[in-house]
Amino acid sequence: MKHLPDFIQRLIVEFDKLPGIGPKTATRLVFNLLHRHDDIKSLANALNEAHQNIHFCPECYNLTDDGLCSICNNPQRDKKTICIVAHNQDVEAVEKTGDFEGVYHLLNGLLSPLEGITPDKLKITELTSRIKNNGVKEIILALDQSMEGEATTIYISKLLAEYSVTVSRLARGIPMGANIEYTDEVTLSSAIKNRKKL
Ligand SMILES: [Zn+2]
Repeated sequence: MKHLPDFIQRLIVEFDKLPGIGPKTATRLVFNLLHRHDDIKSLANALNEAHQNIHFCPECYNLTDDGLCSICNNPQRDKKTICIVAHNQDVEAVEKTGDFEGVYHLLNGLLSPLEGITPDKLKITELTSRIKNNGVKEIILALDQSMEGEATTIYISKLLAEYSVTVSRLARGIPMGANIEYTDEVTLSSAIKNRKKL
């Protein structure tokens, strides 16, 4: 696509970096956008605003715009119970069940040595210092039922064996291969209630 102006090629490269979007879809999206002049402006403004305002909650590493996130900042939430999730969208999924009153800890990924995601790439040290410093009593591992989710669950549960916390994982109602994000509320809700002690 050498005939295209540089700025279009750069846009395609940026869209191509997003998960689930290959070069063909990236190209289609960019051309579509370029035909909608007003939308480009609002997208650019929204991205700019996101870039300026977004940061990680210093407690749980969820995305927020200022200081602690709204969940960590809520005095009604039980700070002694932490639900460990891999991604931001998993927080949304568990919140939708309305069954969890504790707080979260986002790992920002799952262990995958083949892809170079080793424990130091995840927020695991941050998790252990949180447990030590805040008198945390219970940890619930709510990770995807995948090879990576399983490896991460095992790694963290072994690591936490030396801490005096109860560690549980979601019940097996969630099918193998399923993402937390796409699990329906009823299944996820029952998996939280029937969580298994590790
Ligand atoms: Zn937070």
